[in-house]
Amino acid sequence: MAEIKTERLDGYRRLIEIARDLASTLDLDILLQRIVRAAAEVSGSEAASILLYDNLTRQLNFQVATNLDEPTMRGLVVPLEGSIAGWVVLNRKSVRLTNVQEDPRFFGHVDRMTGRPTQSLIGVPLITKNKVVGVLEALNKERGKFTEGDESMLGVLGAQAAVAIENARLFQQSDLISEFVHELRTPLASLSTATYLLLRPEMSRDQQEQIIHNIHSETLRLNSMASSFLDLARLESGRVQFRKTSFNITDLLFECKDIMNSKAEDDRIQIRIEASERLPFCEADRDKLKQVILNLLSNAIKYNRPNGSVILGAGAAETNTCITVQDTGLGIPEEALPHLFEKFYRVHDGEGATGGTGLGLSICKQIVQGHGGRMEVKSKLGVGTAFSIILPRSGKTQPTP
Ligand code: ADP
Repeated sequence: MAEIKTERLDGYRRLIEIARDLASTLDLDILLQRIVRAAAEVSGSEAASILLYDNLTRQLNFQVATNLDEPTMRGLVVPLEGSIAGWVVLNRKSVRLTNVQEDPRFFGHVDRMTGRPTQSLIGVPLITKNKVVGVLEALNKERGKFTEGDESMLGVLGAQAAVAIENARLFQQSDLISEFVHELRTPLASLSTATYLLLRPEMSRDQQEQIIHNIHSETLRLNSMASSFLDLARLESGRVQFRKTSFNITDLLFECKDIMNSKAEDDRIQIRIEASERLPFCEADRDKLKQVILNLLSNAIKYNRPNGSVILGAGAAETNTCITVQDTGLGIPEEALPHLFEKFYRVHDGEGATGGTGLGLSICKQIVQGHGGRMEVKSKLGVGTAFSIILPRSGKTQPTP
């Protein structure tokens, strides 16, 4: 009895420490990591996780878990209907189960992915401003059964998590939105100047055509800025799911070359593919990886010179697969390299290459990091640039053609 009381007291002490801790950061990832670790600790469970609810897709996405790595987690979704977490969201109530496998609401897919069966579980709703934003779950009590005390302790943590998520989201959004609005000012100012000039009676027909051409390209840029911005906001908030499959990298490179060939020919640029034989299969979200390669390839053409070339390469080392996009273009000054993956950062502003948004590389980096990989860049001014995508390697080998 005395032992239980001491344990409970330790738990409450831990909760107070956590509350203090949570108030000290607005970084959502760090916050949620702390909450799940604390949840597993105070309830004496094997693992804990937070799933966030996306009301567009009516699914729950894993946001953090003590027992899942980032790439696996990103590919896992739990449906609202037919899952315990979904039940918690729909009923706004917590659940405490001793034998999960026998529960008709149990959604076994996650167990199959992690390879660890769930026996017991507590799930509490995360409610902020009267809306359920997700579920905090503790899995598999290490000794004995989950108690009412464990459930109420998790309830307190869940309430803190909900407030922290709300605050961090508001902070993140206001930051990104203010940057976006700032970036909108330049194209909007040039559109406004252009319309003013068009109304001037002294403009010649040629000048008017030139102005209309500028309006058209600025509008296209605003359009692509808006879609890239939404893309990036979704990636940054962890709402994008990666659907991993196993595929042949060389085929993907040829596909990307075909898509960009006519643009390259217009600029008199040659694209070559240099891929090693017997590459391992790539395990990734094929469409998302294609988006990254196309973005790098489009930059390699856009920032190249007439009669230049681009080499699309792929190779594999023991632990990773590397895809490179190398060009013979303008190159990037050394002092610009550390900023290249920052949002809205552009080196060649106004050097003829208009139409950029400065968001492409940030999106690429988010996608590659979401796969557990990284991006690298090497460049020499006036000689060319090489971007590399380095992804953790899977075991299987591609058959030789
Ligand atoms: P953008 O839409 O402006 O191309 P990105 O995020 O894709 O945005 O690239 C950021 C900046 O990095 C570009 O504006 C350009 O100045 C520079 N850059 C990207 N790729 C290359 C390249 N292959 N060669 C030279 N400069 C590049």
